Amino acid sequence: MIKMETAYERIAKTLKGKPAKYSRFTRFNQHKTQPHDARSRRCIRCNRPEGLVSMHGLNYCRECFREVAKDLGFRKYGKEA
Ligand SMILES: [Zn+2]
Repeated sequence: MIKMETAYERIAKTLKGKPAKYSRFTRFNQHKTQPHDARSRRCIRCNRPEGLVSMHGLNYCRECFREVAKDLGFRKYGKEA
């Protein structure tokens, strides 16, 4: 498989011979990366990435949290309280 050259790499390659322009390009056109843990954190019970309750280091999704909140010792959660 051929690795596609990104626009950033292509422009950076053409500007290699022009140090002033290259430094300006790298300064203002840095790669925008997502925070590393944006999608890597998942529910420890059902592996769902959405609706994660990371409060107090629980890492349950909101639905699993509803089910196990009472067992964990939460006195009030949801309608049954
Ligand atoms: Zn879950």
